Amino acid sequence: MEKKFYELPQLSFGYGELKPHMSGEQLIIHHQKHHQAYVTAANALLEKMDDSRRINSDFDQKSVLKELSFNISGHMLHSFFWKSLAPQAKGGGREPEGKLLQAIAGEFGSFERFKKEFTQAALSVEGSGWAALALCRETSRPLIMQIEKHNVNLIPSLKILLVLDVFEHAYYLDYKNERSKYIQAFWNIVSWQEAARKFEDFLNRK
Ligand code: MN
Repeated sequence: MEKKFYELPQLSFGYGELKPHMSGEQLIIHHQKHHQAYVTAANALLEKMDDSRRINSDFDQKSVLKELSFNISGHMLHSFFWKSLAPQAKGGGREPEGKLLQAIAGEFGSFERFKKEFTQAALSVEGSGWAALALCRETSRPLIMQIEKHNVNLIPSLKILLVLDVFEHAYYLDYKNERSKYIQAFWNIVSWQEAARKFEDFLNRK
């Protein structure tokens, strides 16, 4: 079987469509440079392991596996992130409804309370990382996760519904060091439709 490699996904919207909340320039560099770098690095590591296995030589397991998890997680989280965004003309920023809203309100008390907690989680990720809304496969409860770098603190069984990238590279061109302004802007372009689709998918598979 031919071995597959990771590929940079296309965005479902144009680079200029998230303005003024996220500029085209910011989005292009984030997608074409930063996300691409994780894809390229993950593929290079796979090739390195393939080559090494072909000639039956050793590679440094600890460093290769650490880099591999960093880059694969970086690729996957960015892929989730693009799907967590939508232009306002296509429903971005519209609040969740139906079962997803009920699940969020049931867990957090209200949608407003969820937004406040998610904002605090995103604001207080140490260094570089992510805030995510996820579902626990064991309890079906929605949980907020802070994902440091790309993989520390990631709970393996959780299904991610929504993520927000809080690496500086995600917002520096638009908001400099003001992460809180970037998080506020995110609420205007968040795609709850995509989160609802994933939530339905989760309910149907249980
Ligand atoms: Mn990023």
